[in-house]
Amino acid sequence: MTEGKNIRPAIAIVVPCFNEEAVLAATAERLLASLDALIERQEVAESSFLLFVDDGSTDATWPICHDLATRHPRIAAISLSRNEGLQVALLAGMEVAADTADAVITIDADLQDDIAVIPEMVRLFSEGAHIVYGVRHDRSADTPSKRRTASSFYRLQHALGIKTLKNHADFRLLSREAITRLGQFGERNIFIRGIIPMLGLPTAQVSYARLPRLAGHSKFSTMRMVNLAIDGITSFSIRPMRVLTILGLLFLVIALGMAVYVVVALLMKRTIPGWSSLMLSLWFIGGCITIGLGIIGEYIGRIYIEVKHRPRYFINRRAGL
Ligand code: UDP
Ligand code: MG
Repeated sequence: MTEGKNIRPAIAIVVPCFNEEAVLAATAERLLASLDALIERQEVAESSFLLFVDDGSTDATWPICHDLATRHPRIAAISLSRNEGLQVALLAGMEVAADTADAVITIDADLQDDIAVIPEMVRLFSEGAHIVYGVRHDRSADTPSKRRTASSFYRLQHALGIKTLKNHADFRLLSREAITRLGQFGERNIFIRGIIPMLGLPTAQVSYARLPRLAGHSKFSTMRMVNLAIDGITSFSIRPMRVLTILGLLFLVIALGMAVYVVVALLMKRTIPGWSSLMLSLWFIGGCITIGLGIIGEYIGRIYIEVKHRPRYFINRRAGL
């Protein structure tokens, strides 16, 4: 944190990149301009920098990052040993950057988040906020299907008692203290957005309109979005399991009622063919059991991953650091 208002904070802007060769040069140029302006206005320290995190890209992302880092004193880059996914790439970048920076801003490489609010984030940090969320008030640049799936995801999370901020992605500022606390959450399947509200530090928000991608295409396929959504729910809530238990109890009560009915029907010699109802319930219960097993498997899988306590990432290459 800034001790005293006259000490300018060192800021790092962390940019996760997975196969972003199409946007990197333009992104670097824009972010650098924005950082230089901040330095010129004496709002941040001279030692502020950009950090590109190459998340195991298979295209020219690393050569471009390396080149940028050698040409510009304010650009640094690291490269993860393999594609670990956005959450881990963000964490790696933030942890490396926080070694020297007082606060770290994370932003997507495609600059779909408006860099014009960065000075505002820095100002709020200087005023004492440890966490500054970037919140999208206008998502018209996203496809309708992306908006729909995102909004049902927020609703579902909310219904499950998970506190995340609607329309906040991974564009935010975190103080060094916040990053230290974040690092203490040892889980492998990390969903950063869900953890930040648990850090117990003063927060603030800035809002902006979501812009279209600079170039290239989205790195999040539907399957990746589904995966992220499942992580975002199962990492924070055991409510799906509770629902399952209650459902099981309910079935038991129904089964008891059925048993009484069967005995009475037998005694009254009114045995009915009942094939269709039998088949129906068979399928219904079969379905419930399968879903139940799936949910349980989900949690066991998670336990399996967590107990191994594997390192989250390895940095293979560094430039400009
Ligand atoms: N990204 C990453 N690792 C991955 C997938 C994506 O670091 O495995 C980065 C990507 O380079 C970009 C950010 O995550 O900087 C957001 O990705 P994208 O813009 O493709 O997602 P969308 O905006 O479509 O949700
Ligand atoms: Mg994007």
